[in-house]
Amino acid sequence: MLTVNAYAATSPTDPLVPTTITRRDVGPRDVLIEIAYAGVCHSDIHTVRGDWGPITYPQVVGHEVAGTVLEVGAGVTTHAVGDRVGVGTIVNSCRECDNCRAGEEQYCLEGNTQAYGSVDRDGTITQGGYSTHVVVDEDFVLRIPEALDFSKVAPLLCAGITTYSPLRHWRAGPDRNVAVVGMGGLGHLAVKLAHAMGAEVTVLSQSLSKRDDGVRFGADAYYATSDLATFDQLANSFDLIINTVSAPIELDAYLRLLRRDGTLVSVGAPPEPLPVAVFSLFGNRRSFAGSSTGGLAETQEMLDFCAEHGIEPETELIDAADINDAWKRVLSSDVRYRFVIDAASLAVTDER
Ligand code: NAP
Ligand code: ZN
Ligand code: ZN
Repeated sequence: MLTVNAYAATSPTDPLVPTTITRRDVGPRDVLIEIAYAGVCHSDIHTVRGDWGPITYPQVVGHEVAGTVLEVGAGVTTHAVGDRVGVGTIVNSCRECDNCRAGEEQYCLEGNTQAYGSVDRDGTITQGGYSTHVVVDEDFVLRIPEALDFSKVAPLLCAGITTYSPLRHWRAGPDRNVAVVGMGGLGHLAVKLAHAMGAEVTVLSQSLSKRDDGVRFGADAYYATSDLATFDQLANSFDLIINTVSAPIELDAYLRLLRRDGTLVSVGAPPEPLPVAVFSLFGNRRSFAGSSTGGLAETQEMLDFCAEHGIEPETELIDAADINDAWKRVLSSDVRYRFVIDAASLAVTDER
């Protein structure tokens, strides 16, 4: 086993602290990755705070990993030492259920193994990417296209695929009006991706403070949801609304913005249930849906799409020691637009 540096949560509320964890020996189908960058997703915070249910501590989170292959098992054919690779939210699945066979491992009927907080096949709890190394089955390791900036690519592994997948499924493209609610980590990538797919893109943010950025990312229009007139002005206008907000929103108000047969997809995951009045769905035959990350093949497709269209996350590189401040800024919607931990700063935690 390999002992590696990491930052871990020890309770729902205490700051993350430097620690060491172990990674399993490299099995025949495993890839040992030296982590270079790890993105900071709002899900990391929800998980540690117990928003989605109790967890076991200590827990290392992080499911947006970019790194370099250090070693491969004897049976590995798809990755080689020195390759630039990525790991996202899923590190294993049953591979046999209907959903796995369809390439939708995110919906594995046996329950997939998440990058952190899941019971692994050896019975241990998986530990995530705020760390220097990770060992992952080759089938769950993605290739990072050369054209993408290595230091910026990590957030695509969760924020990118989580927005790409519903945009594709609900056919964002020319002649489709897409709204993105919340312009944080997921939201800013949703804007870039929907624009690249050819859709007309509108941002619905709490205020107009990030409007210039939104337009730079490809938004055609930008509205403040704090201004109630927005909801009158935009009634019956969108084919698709992607809700990326980490807190509850008033669904009925947003559903009324959908035109006939439009769909509001929530990818934001607040702990509270979101009530819906059925009459908001009756009008215009609207749908309310959810979507979870994406399968492995679709994640690779998304990375290749981003390389082709020059789409990169807007990132702020931080040292691991700055993680607690970064989390505070995420919680106050003060993120521009994704924090990424420089894993080189983790290599020195022993000396602190
Ligand atoms: P984030 O960077 O914090 O972005 C969330 C954005 O929502 C904020 O930037 C803010 O945008 C808006 N917002 C926050 N609090 C709000 C409030 N009280 N009222 C209205 N708007 C608010 O978070 P993220 O990393 O993008 O993640 C967003 C959500 O998606 C989280 O709940 C996360 O757990 C979830 N998620 C789900 C999946 C999935 O598979 N479905 C995958 C990844 C993440 P404005 O300032 O522009 O208003
Ligand atoms: Zn995430
Ligand atoms: Zn399965």
